[in-house]
Amino acid sequence: MFSYQQARELVILRTTALSREAQTESISLLKALGRILAQEILTDRDYPPFDRSIRDGYAVSAVDTQPGATLRCVGELKAGDTPCMRVEPGTCIQIMTGAALPEGADAVIMIEHTQRSGDAVTLDRAVPPGQHVVPRGSEQSAGKTVLVKGTRLGFAQVAAAAQVGAAQIAAYRKPRVAILSTGDEVVEFASTPGPFQIRNSNSVSLAAKVTGLHAEAILLGNAKDTHDDLRAKISAGLAADALVLSGGVSAGKYDLVEPVLREFGAETVFDAVAIRPGKPVVFAVCQGKPVFGLPGNPVSTMVTCDLFVRPAMEILSGAAPTPVPFLEAVLTERMQEKPGLTHFLPAFLEFGDHPRVTPLRWQGSGDVIAMSGANCLLVIPPDRETIDAGERVHVLPR
Ligand code: AMP
Ligand code: MG
Repeated sequence: MFSYQQARELVILRTTALSREAQTESISLLKALGRILAQEILTDRDYPPFDRSIRDGYAVSAVDTQPGATLRCVGELKAGDTPCMRVEPGTCIQIMTGAALPEGADAVIMIEHTQRSGDAVTLDRAVPPGQHVVPRGSEQSAGKTVLVKGTRLGFAQVAAAAQVGAAQIAAYRKPRVAILSTGDEVVEFASTPGPFQIRNSNSVSLAAKVTGLHAEAILLGNAKDTHDDLRAKISAGLAADALVLSGGVSAGKYDLVEPVLREFGAETVFDAVAIRPGKPVVFAVCQGKPVFGLPGNPVSTMVTCDLFVRPAMEILSGAAPTPVPFLEAVLTERMQEKPGLTHFLPAFLEFGDHPRVTPLRWQGSGDVIAMSGANCLLVIPPDRETIDAGERVHVLPR
């Protein structure tokens, strides 16, 4: 049986091999957060475009400055003004943050280091050339790369694109991900279940996750545990860029997902991973598409989605897969788990200088309510049967 790291590596390898250069679309920068850039973005001019003052004070020639020196203030420059006056020897110009340094000046002395009386400005110190000035082009010169193709656009990246005037950008098209739950007992989440039926929470958690990963979720509803219904709905799902199923992958008599996928020519890459919850997880390649058969217990569905679906979504989006974002925390109570499997347990992480993590009481992998109170998964490695309070453990924030 594969470890989760090996299984993840297989998902990454196989999905990378499948994904052709994703299609691109032109989108408004305001809709671009989280998307993957499909073009290079260049500076349209020097940055800063002029020698920029980064303090409120006086533009001076550094050679004129010394403690006790008095300069005559001959004007004022605020941000946006065109500097048309020169700083001649013995003079200065009042300047605001963001304004362009005038000719003849090479430094700014902060207002706090001066005293003003009429147009006389007395300095309490000398300043070196370049003080509080960011020279033109020092951040980046015109025509240079700001953002490379393949960058995921976070808030700083959209700000950089905005600064250089990239109002419309080319982004990779979002992958379309079909989501199909399975099970005779499963009813639509908006309906009232019979006494022994359950509402479909998996399609909702999967759609939420996939949408959060900047893919487009296509909800195909629920398939009954019959060959015919599974066949029809899997066939529809294979029209998308990827298919994610929940349920029907264990060893039960009505767990038919794998056999039906095989009818479509699927190659099973793995159908068990040494984790709990989520051990019977299936990853297959079918008609050139990645297909995930996630175990139906809702916490298993969420854990396996985080571990295995996520890197595939990143690759199909045109991005490099990101490593599992583990943090370290101190365990607050002793734990004992079955060795041989990596456990991912709902837990509560207290952030701060010394993060602490406490496992939550839960009733196993069907316990969505316990999971909804968790802000992380606590990771117990397969070679540890017990971990003592006070030991450092890995957690996966959610
Ligand atoms: P399965 O993997 O099909 O054996 O399902 C395992 C457990 O997960 C069963 O108790 C199911 O009722 C539950 N389950 C399966 N599908 C869903 C779903 N879509 N939403 C919520 N629970 C589900
Ligand atoms: Mg089932």
